[in-house]
Order: sequence, then C-alpha cells, then structure tokens
Amino acid sequence: MTNAVERLQAVKAKIANAEREAKRAPGAVTLVAVSKTFAAEDIRPVIEAGQRVFGENRVQEAQGKWPALKAAFADVELHLIGPLQSNKAKEAVALFHVIETVDREKIAAELSKEMARQGRAPKLYVQVNTGSEPQKAGIEPREAVAFVKRCRDVHGLAIEGLMCIPPADENPGPHFALLEKLAREAGVAKLSMGMSGDYEIAIAFGATSVRVGSAIFGSR
Ligand SMILES: *Cc1c(COP(=O)(O)O)cnc(C)c1O
Repeated sequence: MTNAVERLQAVKAKIANAEREAKRAPGAVTLVAVSKTFAAEDIRPVIEAGQRVFGENRVQEAQGKWPALKAAFADVELHLIGPLQSNKAKEAVALFHVIETVDREKIAAELSKEMARQGRAPKLYVQVNTGSEPQKAGIEPREAVAFVKRCRDVHGLAIEGLMCIPPADENPGPHFALLEKLAREAGVAKLSMGMSGDYEIAIAFGATSVRVGSAIFGSR
C-alpha cells in the first residue's frame, strides 16, 4: 500500500527522468496535482509534502475546499482545468490563479469584464479540442490561432498557453504535437498536456505542465 505523498514523490521522480530523457532543463515541467473529488483532508498532506500547484475541474467544488487551504498555505497556486460557464466567471476569477479552459468568445468577454472589475489577473490558457470531439470542450484546432489573437486584440487578454485533453482511445502523441505546433503559430509559450496515463509522453513533446490526478491521489 502506498499513500498520496509517496505517489507524489514517485510522479516527481518520473517527471525528472522524463525531463532528462527529453533533454529538457531540470524543473522545466510544472506538476499540477489534480485534486478534484478529493477532500481538503486528503489534499493537505500533499501540500505539507511540498506540492504547491493544484488543479480542479469544477468552480463550485473548488469554492468549497480551497479558500481555507489558500488561507493556510498562501503560496498555493490553483488551476481551473474544467469547462467554465460564463455565469461562473466571477467566482473563477476570484479563486483561481490560472484558468486553462478559455475556449470561446463569450468566456473571453466575461473574463475580461470580471478581471477589470475585480482588479485580478489570473493567467489564461486556451483549451484546444485537438480531436474535434463533439462532447469535449475546447476550440477547434483550425480556429485556435485566430482565437488567441482575438483574445489579445478584442478582449485585451494575454494568453500564456494552450491546453488539450486528447481522445481517451487514441495515441496521444499526435495531439501533443499538434498543440505544440499551434502554440508556436500563436506565439504562446506554455503547453498544458499530459495526465496520469501519458504525462511522460507529453514531456517528450514539450509539455511545460502536466495535470496528474489519479497517479497521486488514487482512483476516483
Ligand atoms: C481529471 C483531469 C485530469 C487528471 O486526470 P488523471 O487521469 O486522473 O491524471 C487532467 N486534466 C483534466 C482536464 C482533468 O479533468
């Protein structure tokens, strides 16, 4: 039996190894520990073990457990990695340091308005639906570069990176390669890609952050 802290250390060792194998600089890849569905008491030991960057996929769930954890650990960085509804933009801007799921005009407009109103500036990524899956959030790959430009020019939003979730039943490599190409074309530096099953592959394709949940916290 292992616990979350032991699994965290194992994931960190694998990330370091994947960085070496890909000839990436040590520490080039940020681990986003995905704590969705887990309670504050499950998350706390992982923070105490030194992990500082966390991902949640639902605004409301995160609002229930993170304000107290943020108060106790001031340097925690929280990423929103799930779809954002425009009626939750206000709460998302107030709670998250990074919003990885900007994927349409209406959300961009709503975030822009809330950021100005609250005087807060979470970092923003655009989610790309690299597999063009109808049920999945994210902008279509062929629209991604123009959308990043519109976020900047029309909404005044600096987009720092792109994010994707490849189709579950496909080889993820081509999706990671596509995201890397789109980021280059759009002139953005950060690539959020890779989950428990494929984060080492994503690092080989240039991921700057990986979102790892079950390999740390256990199955959901
Ligand atoms: C749940 C989730 C993850 C983590 O998935 P695991 O397979 O548990 O590592 C990563 N990214 C997103 C967008 C998620 O919703």
